[in-house]
Amino acid sequence: MISELAQRFTRLIEATGPISVAQYMGESNAAYYAARDPLGAEGDFITAPEISQMFGEMIGLWFADLFLRSGYKGRPHYVELGPGRGTLAQDALGAMAQFGIEPKVHFLETSPALRERQAALRPDAIWHDALDTLPRSGALLVMANEFFDALPVRQLIATHAGWRERVVARTGEQFAALPGARPMDAVVPQDFRNAPPGSILETCPAASGFAYELASRIKAQGGAMLTVDYGYDTPQLGSTLQAVRAHQKVDPFSDPGECDITAHVNFDELKQIGLSHGLRPHGPVGQGSFLKALGIETRTRMLAEANPAQADALKTAQDRLVNDDPDSMGELFRVLALTATTWPQPEGFGTSNGAR
Ligand code: SAH
Repeated sequence: MISELAQRFTRLIEATGPISVAQYMGESNAAYYAARDPLGAEGDFITAPEISQMFGEMIGLWFADLFLRSGYKGRPHYVELGPGRGTLAQDALGAMAQFGIEPKVHFLETSPALRERQAALRPDAIWHDALDTLPRSGALLVMANEFFDALPVRQLIATHAGWRERVVARTGEQFAALPGARPMDAVVPQDFRNAPPGSILETCPAASGFAYELASRIKAQGGAMLTVDYGYDTPQLGSTLQAVRAHQKVDPFSDPGECDITAHVNFDELKQIGLSHGLRPHGPVGQGSFLKALGIETRTRMLAEANPAQADALKTAQDRLVNDDPDSMGELFRVLALTATTWPQPEGFGTSNGAR
């Protein structure tokens, strides 16, 4: 059965021509998230905070340590972007509370279905549709786990006739991505101008927009932002678009609104935005190295001693989060912190500040 969104895209493309990959991805994910809770074993995918409470606890400890050493006196704001079920916030805020830190809680979330889940765990939260309603005073402790990868990317593709926007058209019964008509060479950085035909350059204007706004807020109000996501550390070419449904990879163009479409996060871009706003970047490092530096192995042992029946499950969960084989979560997921220059050096990134 063809979904309502697929029908709408079809009518739109027939009436006005192909749509951009960014529009396709943006509207697909908006429809996808609005209608469901996609997380967990019965859902489409699983995220670190849903694997183990230890993930959120480590994040909470990271913020608590940084906050206490900053010497900041007021009540900070905990701001989470795309908090999913609210599990990470719950675990992180619990860990912070043990150090007497009780921030005001702000969630940036567009999905009504997920807002409901979040409210069940954190009825104290204040929800935001966009960043402009965040308070203008008070330090911001900003967390984003698997948020930026859900934001729509724009794709440019090199052809024999120059660079074009990559667009989505209808071929027969299917959606398919192909080069559009309008020349786009002017927006391609010099380094990539002469890339061979078929090369794809991705940008994520929405991610850059969020990073710009948050970086200038943190500069003015104090605080830090921690981003954890699938991504790459240096600029690169290639499509990273992928989609999952029921834990299986599917074609991102097969069933809009019915699968989770993601793209890898350009960590270099986030870092440059931080730098250009006067923040200090740390990382990116692998999630595994970050969590180990924060003491996740000790935490696993403590929990296992207190609850021997769970020892194996705890060890399995820990390994899943930290395993740093090239194709594992501990390595593929990158961690980047941006901190106000008046704030101290954060834990977890080693003394060489991001060098691996
Ligand atoms: N951080 C959670 C959930 C990740 S899924 C976890 O780690 O488990 C992506 C989250 O981002 C969902 O909560 C989704 O509803 C939200 N989201 C996606 N696009 C968004 C947008 N443009 N604005 C606000 N939230 C968005």
